[in-house]
Amino acid sequence: MLVNLNGVLVPKEKAVVSVFDHGLLYGDGVFEGVRAYQGRVFRLGQHLERLYDSAKAILLTPPLPMEAMRKEILRTLAANHLKDAYIRPVFTRGEGDLGLNPVNCPKATYFIIADRIRLYPEATYRDGLPLITVPTRRNVAEALSPKIKSLNYLNNILAKVEASQRGALEAILLTQDGYVAECTADNLFIFRKGRLLTPPTWQGALEGVTRQAVLELAAKRKVPACEEPITRYDIYTAQEALMTGTAAEIVPVTSLDGRTIGDGEPGPLTKRMMADYKGLTRSEGDKIPAAVPKRPALSLSKGIRRPA
Ligand code: PMP
Repeated sequence: MLVNLNGVLVPKEKAVVSVFDHGLLYGDGVFEGVRAYQGRVFRLGQHLERLYDSAKAILLTPPLPMEAMRKEILRTLAANHLKDAYIRPVFTRGEGDLGLNPVNCPKATYFIIADRIRLYPEATYRDGLPLITVPTRRNVAEALSPKIKSLNYLNNILAKVEASQRGALEAILLTQDGYVAECTADNLFIFRKGRLLTPPTWQGALEGVTRQAVLELAAKRKVPACEEPITRYDIYTAQEALMTGTAAEIVPVTSLDGRTIGDGEPGPLTKRMMADYKGLTRSEGDKIPAAVPKRPALSLSKGIRRPA
């Protein structure tokens, strides 16, 4: 595997950053999770926009312009001969001293990892996923906006650990005032009384690219869909629930806190959205170029004619 580290493709083992990088010391940086399907990168523009907005929100000067970053991502996929992949572009604040101040980090670092991913077993997509509510609340937007996809994921990690400790694969986090925010790394939707609902991002959810795609697909199918604050009561009494994210895609949710949602099976709208989303991911996106073949090393012994 070749990792793109500051524009240089290096073997995985050599893809290392300094221990003085503030991305490592303080979680000072931003990242993205992107997918490629059948040789096309799905909604790369939206992911790049979110990456550059996240960088702007933390006053991190991107190490390269957006269009150059797009090319580097495509180049990394091509170099690894990947057509179906999960891509992780990261900007860190870069190398500095032991103080917090990013002024002492003159240049941001970037790297791009392209690999494969499978978050959940096949059965989860067929039978649905049970969720639980964990005690850890979502970060308050006034302290650190959940719209920023920063390298500081401790809030989500603590929730994930709490879920694991209780035998669950995923969990929902509530906001400070008890509304449903999102899952640990995915957005949540419910289908209740003929409407598809998802919590508004101002309440504490990331503005998910998959979430946006599902809202568009619902509009196409003429299913009323809106952003609306939701409580656990709304989930318990919903007909269907689903989770959305780049890595997880669309996952049917069949229970919350041991209470069955709907009839406890992936519902018809969820199945429709899963099929529509699959169609969408196979029909749009930036094409991955063919890998540039390595130039054969010049050999003096053959092929080159020397004058007699
Ligand atoms: N919420 C959080 C906290 C996330 O990290 C993610 C990305 N994994 C999502 C939601 C889903 O966003 P997207 O659909 O853009 O992957």
